[in-house]
Amino acid sequence: MITTDFGDLISARVRSEHETLAARWFERLVDLLPVDARKVFPTSSLLDHVPSLILEIGACLHSEHDGAIAANSMVLQKARELGALRHDQRASLHQVLREYQILGGVLVQFVLEEIDGLPSSPPAGACVQSVARIHQAVDVLAQTTVEAFVELYTKTIAEQHERLEEFTRMATHEWRQPLGALQFGVSVLQQSDLDAAAKKTLTVLDRNVSHLIDLTRKLEAVARIHSNGDSVVTQRVPVLTVVREATRQLREMADMRAVEIRIDEPMPELTIDVGRLELTLVNLLSNAIKYSDPAKPHRFIRIRASLESRDTCRLEVQDNGIGIPRDAVSRIFQRFTRVHGALDPLLHVQGVGLGLSIVDDCVRAMGGGVHVESAEGVGTTFVLRLPLAAPTLPG
Ligand code: ADP
Repeated sequence: MITTDFGDLISARVRSEHETLAARWFERLVDLLPVDARKVFPTSSLLDHVPSLILEIGACLHSEHDGAIAANSMVLQKARELGALRHDQRASLHQVLREYQILGGVLVQFVLEEIDGLPSSPPAGACVQSVARIHQAVDVLAQTTVEAFVELYTKTIAEQHERLEEFTRMATHEWRQPLGALQFGVSVLQQSDLDAAAKKTLTVLDRNVSHLIDLTRKLEAVARIHSNGDSVVTQRVPVLTVVREATRQLREMADMRAVEIRIDEPMPELTIDVGRLELTLVNLLSNAIKYSDPAKPHRFIRIRASLESRDTCRLEVQDNGIGIPRDAVSRIFQRFTRVHGALDPLLHVQGVGLGLSIVDDCVRAMGGGVHVESAEGVGTTFVLRLPLAAPTLPG
């Protein structure tokens, strides 16, 4: 409680001068903000809002008031509307906070002017309390405005993200057919009688088309995982069945690079989204093959699965490949991160840096987690922890 008359006096003065104070605030904005405030606040609605906020702050200064803005007060609603308005006007969070800082400054300066104008100085405690209450009220209003602003901002980002994913889905769908035709055309030409230069050109063309097809497939997978319409087939399945299917798909690639794939049996059963588990394994296995170490005479991948606890399965994909540098381990699950790009010609690989982000997305959607243990020159192990029974809701 403000026990002196000063609180009542200053409360009344702030309330009676609220229009003037709002105008002062506006003038200071024009001076201080790096934007034309008249363009930023063209609406009368905002200029209505600020005087009401000042009225409420004035009320908080009254000695009968407990100094706090009530959680259900209309003024909080106005502060929220202000957040929405500033969001629609594409203001930055910094600007919004700066506007409130300016408001606090204008009000405190007004209190100091009022003190100066009094015939005798009010008690220091009462002055300090008034200033503290101004800051407290401005903070509450600023917080409310910022909350509304951030809520809308987050929603806008999510919508933009969804539109981008939708674009990716559409674009990759459209690319698939012409790329397939291109690949077919190249393979037909490769059968024909061509001179060495033309064959070389075709080889380069073939490599680039394959790269584009791989990129398209991966982008499609990324968009599908994030799509709400992604059909999830959760079923009870022996992990071994999914491991065998993933291995089958990569057998040719593994043979070409002389990489032995060992599967440790037995393996437990899971109730899981089989499509996502297969996609995860295909990505991990193809990486293990791609980044196998040509300098090692015996290259292998080992896949193990066991019950880690009553409700968790531990699935490991281990290789004795080139390994991952320690400082890169924390980044490899981020989209478009490639660590061994410089080794591509030596390893004869191409990549886009999407495989592990797909793995991470899939594993999360299956309700599990993934981490990596790696030593350069020794090898890499990806460890997946998956629930024995999948969560009922998709990704
Ligand atoms: P990419 O298309 O480049 O293979 P990924 O997202 O699948 O993209 O992998 C990201 C990077 O992580 C790779 O470029 C590679 O540098 C590294 N990496 C992934 N798996 C392995 C592995 N088994 N051994 C060594 N490095 C790996």
